[in-house]
Formats: sequence, structure tokens, C-alpha cells
Amino acid sequence: MTPAPYVGRFAPSPTGPLHQGSLVAALASWLDARAAAGRWLVRMEDLDRPRCTQDAADTILRQLEAYGLAWAGEVLYQSTRDDAYATALDALRSQGAAFACTCTRSQLAHAPRNAEGEIVYPGTCRLRTAPAGAHHAWRVRVEEVSTHFVDRIHGALRQDLAHEVGDFVVKRADGLFAYQLAVVVDDAFQGITHVVRGADLLWNTPRQLYLQRLLGLPTPIHAHVPLVTNAVGQKLSKQTLAPALPERGRRQVLADALSALGHPPPADLIGASAAELLAWASAHWQIKNVPRHPIIAKPRP
Ligand code: GLU
Ligand code: ZN
Repeated sequence: MTPAPYVGRFAPSPTGPLHQGSLVAALASWLDARAAAGRWLVRMEDLDRPRCTQDAADTILRQLEAYGLAWAGEVLYQSTRDDAYATALDALRSQGAAFACTCTRSQLAHAPRNAEGEIVYPGTCRLRTAPAGAHHAWRVRVEEVSTHFVDRIHGALRQDLAHEVGDFVVKRADGLFAYQLAVVVDDAFQGITHVVRGADLLWNTPRQLYLQRLLGLPTPIHAHVPLVTNAVGQKLSKQTLAPALPERGRRQVLADALSALGHPPPADLIGASAAELLAWASAHWQIKNVPRHPIIAKPRP
């Protein structure tokens, strides 16, 4: 039998334990891989070393195990991958696609912002030559291209990268590689064919497509699953003090996560074990049943 071509992944940042929102993202990507008889990998996005801890990574892995979300192979830690990211940055530089940026946070404070609240880089350092040895970030030069992509849940989307994002950071002034670069290097390295992740990352996708094109890397197929927000509409996160997944009552937590994904378990599964719920969900998983809500407003200038 030839191996299934599907390779999916869950890529948490280990800044704290999983909560209901991160479970929904993990569960969706696990189910999508399961339903396609594919492989499901876990990657720890621990680039931001002071914020990410081995403790949190270990907790996340224990939580995934406890919830029955088994992964294939070794967990990849981004903290071990600087050489690969440096090689990718060199490749961008050698084609003139990256430039050094010495702008400070306060210098950019008045730059325009996009609908996501992110700074649209005004191009200040584009034509400057890098001051030798100066503390600086690296940005990728964004040309006037309109990026189209099709999300399996959100449909056909378009972002005007140059005007809605501008030249974006691939390596920070403090020496840390940026998420956008690391994610495309690692998705290619791990042979990821399908990205299923939270809708908060929907408008990061065009940046990643752009880097994939520059670096000659394949583009996976995307699906952005709904975010779980708290009662006042904020995304669950460590910042909004989302509680960690409970150790007890996992069946209910799983049933709720399945309902959030448009797959409420049928009444005859009331009282079923977590394993039975997962088996039912794997057999009935249909990406078209996953809702788009809460809808992330499309950034328009
Ligand atoms: N590490 C990112 C997060 O925790 C997810 C990255 C991705 O799935 O592309 O939000
Ligand atoms: Zn600059």
C-alpha cells in the first residue's frame, strides 16, 4: 500500500497549557488528517524563547495524549531550527528580496494600520543599505502582487499584500526569526500538505504564500477553523485568562469542541467515552459542516 499523501500538523506555541480554543484547532486538524487516512504531526512553535517553556510544551503533549489526539513521529521544536531559517533568509537576501530595517517601534508608531490592527510598513528602509553591524531586523520586500487563495472553509479570498501588510519582518532585531518565515520553512521540511488552524491566522496566509513562492516551496491546502471567543467576544488565550483544559470531564469538553466544529455528537453518544466520540467524529468529519463564525472581518483599505 502506498502511504497516504495527506500530512497535517498542529503547531502550538508553548506559552501555556491548551485551553478550549486550542483544543478546537488541534481536534479539527487531527480529525481532518484521520478522515483522510493521513499523518498528523505536532510542531512546537517555541521561537519566542523567553515566552515559551519546555514545561508548557510537556503539558501540551500530555493534554493531547489525555484527549486521545495521537501524533506521528517525533515532535519538531522550532528552537532547534535556526540553521534552516538562516539558510532561508540567505536565499531571500541573495535574490534581493530582503532588506535590513532599523526602524524602532516608536518610529513606526504612527504608521498606518490594517484591519487586523497590524502596522503597514511604510517602506522607510527599503532603499537604504544595511548599516554594518547595526542592530536591525530583516524584512521581506513585498512587490505589488495581489494574492488569491482558496480556503476550504472561507472560500476564495484575496489580499493586497503590498497595501494591507507591506514589507514584513522575517527576522527580528533581537535575533529571533519571525513566525512567518519559520512556519513556511517547517511546513515544507515536514512535508505538510494540509494546514488546518485557527481563523486568527487566516490573514497571515498570503504572507506565507508569498514566502513560499520566493523560496520555491510548495503551498499546502488551507482550512481556518472558527475561533472560540469568551463572553465578551475575545479570542480565548493566555492573555484573556482562558482556563486550561480540565483533567476531568473530557467527554463533555470533546463534545463541546465537536459542536463548535459543526459536528455535534448524536444523542445516542451521550455517555460515550472520549475514544468513542473521536471514532464517531473521524467517521463523520466533513469540512463543509465546519462553520465560519466568528467571522474575521476581511481587511479592506
Ligand atoms: N503557533 C501558532 C499559534 O499557536 C500556529 C501556527 C500555525 O498553525 O501556522 O497560534
Ligand atoms: Zn525600517
